[in-house]
Parts: sequence; C-alpha cells; structure tokens
Amino acid sequence: MITMKFGGTSVGDAKRLEDVALIVRSLLPRRPVLVASAMAGVTDLLLETAQLAVRRETGQVQANIDALREKHLQVANTMIPHEGRRAELIGRHAGLLDELSNLYHGVSLLKELSVRSLDAIASFGEVLSCLQLTAILSLREVPAEFIDARTLVRTDARFGEAAVDFSVTREHLRAALLPLVQKGAVPVVTGFIGSTEDGLTTTLGRSGSDYTASIVGAALDSEEIWIWTDVDGVMTADPRTVEKATVLPEITYREAAEMSYFGAKVIHPKTMMPAIENSIPIRIKNTFNPSHPGTLISNATVSMNRVVKNVTSIDNLSLVSIEGNGMVGVPGISARIFSALAQVQVNVMMISQASSEHNVCLVVPQGDCRKALAALREQFELEIARKTVDDIKLLDNVSIVAVVGEGMKGMRGIAGKTFTAVANAGVNIVAIAQGSSELNISLVVEEPDAAKAVQAIHDAFHLA
Ligand code: ASP
Ligand code: MG
Repeated sequence: MITMKFGGTSVGDAKRLEDVALIVRSLLPRRPVLVASAMAGVTDLLLETAQLAVRRETGQVQANIDALREKHLQVANTMIPHEGRRAELIGRHAGLLDELSNLYHGVSLLKELSVRSLDAIASFGEVLSCLQLTAILSLREVPAEFIDARTLVRTDARFGEAAVDFSVTREHLRAALLPLVQKGAVPVVTGFIGSTEDGLTTTLGRSGSDYTASIVGAALDSEEIWIWTDVDGVMTADPRTVEKATVLPEITYREAAEMSYFGAKVIHPKTMMPAIENSIPIRIKNTFNPSHPGTLISNATVSMNRVVKNVTSIDNLSLVSIEGNGMVGVPGISARIFSALAQVQVNVMMISQASSEHNVCLVVPQGDCRKALAALREQFELEIARKTVDDIKLLDNVSIVAVVGEGMKGMRGIAGKTFTAVANAGVNIVAIAQGSSELNISLVVEEPDAAKAVQAIHDAFHLA
C-alpha cells in the first residue's frame, strides 16, 4: 500500500488532473490511498476573501465566490463528460459554495474574523478539490471514494495550526480506510484539515497536505509515502543558482528536515515526524515525469558516498551583533537576548558566539531587523549606558549559505574545504555556525555573494 499526496498544482487544472488520473490508474496494483490539496491558488483566495468580508466589500466577495465556482466548473465541464455525474458534482459544489457564502456573510455581519472562522473557510478548498478528483477518477476506471478528513483527523483547538492527536487519529484512519483498501477502493482524503473533539473544523497549517499524507501513511503502515510535485526530487542546489544541480536519489529524514529549514521548499518540515516514528520512507515524485524514481527520504545510512548532500541559501536576512567586554563570563546574556527577541516575535535563524564570549551574532529576517534592534537596545539599555556592552550593530542584506549532509559527522576537513572553496571564490565570510549535530555548516555572507558561494561549494564537493 502506498499513500500518495497530490498538491495544489498537480490538481490545479484539467490537464494536470488528467495526468494525475493516469498516474493513479497505473499504480492501482500498489493499492494507493490518496491525499489531495485544494486547487492551486484556492486557499489563498478563500483567505483573502475572508478579509474582504470583514471589511464588508460585498461585491468583491461575491466576485471571488463566482471565480471559485467558475474555476471548478471549468474542470467539471472538460473532465466529466457523463452528464449525470457532472450534474451531481456541480450540485455538490453549489451547495458548498452556498455554505461558504453564508460564512462570509456572517463574518461581514459581525465584522469579526477569528482564526477559528478562517479555518472553517479555508477547509472548503480541499473539500471542493477532493470531491472533484473523486468524480474524475471514478470515470477513469479508478474506484475512488471521497473521504472528508474532518471525520478522521482529530486535533486540538489551536486553530490555524492545530496539533494532531495521533492515537485517536490512527484508530479512526485505520477503521475507515483499511476496509476500503481491502475491497479495492481508492480513498481520496482531503489534506490540510481536521476537526476537534467537538467537531469544529481546524487546519494543520499552510501547506499542511504533506503532513496529512504522512499522518495517513503512518497510520496505515504504508510501504511508502509519495509526495507528488512538479520537480524530479530534492536537488543538490537550487537550479536557478547552480545550473548543474542534480537530483539526489536518497537523503535521510534529518537531512530533509534540515534542508527544508534552509529553504529547499520540497516538503513541509512537519511531514517527516509521523514517517520517522513509523520508519516509513517518503518519496518525492514528479507528476510531469512519473517514471523518474525521485528522491527517497528514509533512515537509510548508506549515503551514496556523499558526505555533503546539498547547499542552499536563504536571502533577505540581517545580522545583528552584540559585543562588549561586559558579556564575558556573565551568565544569562544569551537568555536575555532570546527572550527579548521572543517577546517581539522575531525568529532567530542562526546564532554564533565566539568562545571568548565577547561577541554574539544572530541572523534574523530582514523585515524584522528594526524590531529586533529596538528590543535588544531596550533590553541592554543599562549595559550600553555603562559601556559594558557596545552599541548593538546591524548588517543588512546578508544570506545564510547552508551546507547539509549527515555524512559530515565526525569527518575531518569538511569545514576547511567549505571555507577554502568560498575564499577561493573571493567571497568574504561574515560569520560561521556549525550545530553540534554536525549535520550542517552555515555561513553568513553578503547577499550579492551568496550565489557565488553556493556555486563554489557545489563544485568543491563535486555535487554535479
Ligand atoms: N491548500 C493548503 C494550502 O494552500 C494546504 C496545502 O496546499 O498543502 O496551504
Ligand atoms: Mg499548496
């Protein structure tokens, strides 16, 4: 049994849905269970429309609902030639859009939009899309069955990014889906959504369908979880930066998590957790190129003789540095730095402290750097006045270049090789950090140099 997830672009128009149907039909012997997202752009549109509703821009709300109807109708009209089935789907969609319209109306009347309402509103995308996918598959020799994940995926009430109750969910999923699979049916499960014990709709966070697939795959003890997307797999680098970047046949769960943290947008970071716990491999596959084996993400330690797997960069960052003699040997400085930043909700992407403790530097998103600076200046006001801490400095327009690979652990010379490669490319390194897990080395460079650094490291480790 394979659990397969099709994302928004894969179900985004008639042409792509035709490909999905072909893929699913060819894989019937592997007993697929499907998880699908809303059509591309739909979740964004649903959420934007909620903002219009709260501002009582009624005309625009109606126009957006019409656009949603039109988008799905177009698919129904091209892909469901069977008149009865088409009418049935259009009817169900119309009912859902009426319900949605009522929700928007409620939001307008109350002039209030809670995260709870946003989840209820966002859930329509997956329901519309999966009903449609089920109808399309049924007409193409796939015995598909629509499954609303809200009846199975139990979460807490943290709307917007609810936490899943795994034991209840596992039981529900097994009880509902295993008998279907046994009789040869193909469940089509809505990604991204769940519900609380009281039956309130929740979502698992944006792009949460990957996560749903992993939860379903783990609950059913699937052989593998396949994430269908529009690239051949996880690459050694972003092909827009490194022309010769190649697809990695295999990576480990930890490498995948590390890479997604550093901006390789292949898989939602939370996706790894249920898969790891149940040792189920995840495979990234390309709907445009289904015969390509993709990238296998698993626990396998065979690292294809490759120590470094991938090099990524994240741009639009700022480096904040705090320096001063008064910081040496004083406990609690880091704690104060982090709590000051947490209070203003700034996410710290990387930290580095020299062992002299004379200097701590942190990397934050550029958009948050003023906020970070103000919070830190306030926190260390006294020390700055006493000159035990120098003024806090900011360097804008930096990038983190991250080198990821589990094989780096215990290997000598990896850091040296990385820095030499970057230096030889004429790029100045502003700061360095290596986690003690030795899974990644991160460098801060000035943004205009980032691509050069990535390219140099990619060449040095022969990733092409
Ligand atoms: N449709 C949801 C979103 O756009 C979930 C997903 O695409 O995975 O965030
Ligand atoms: Mg999506």
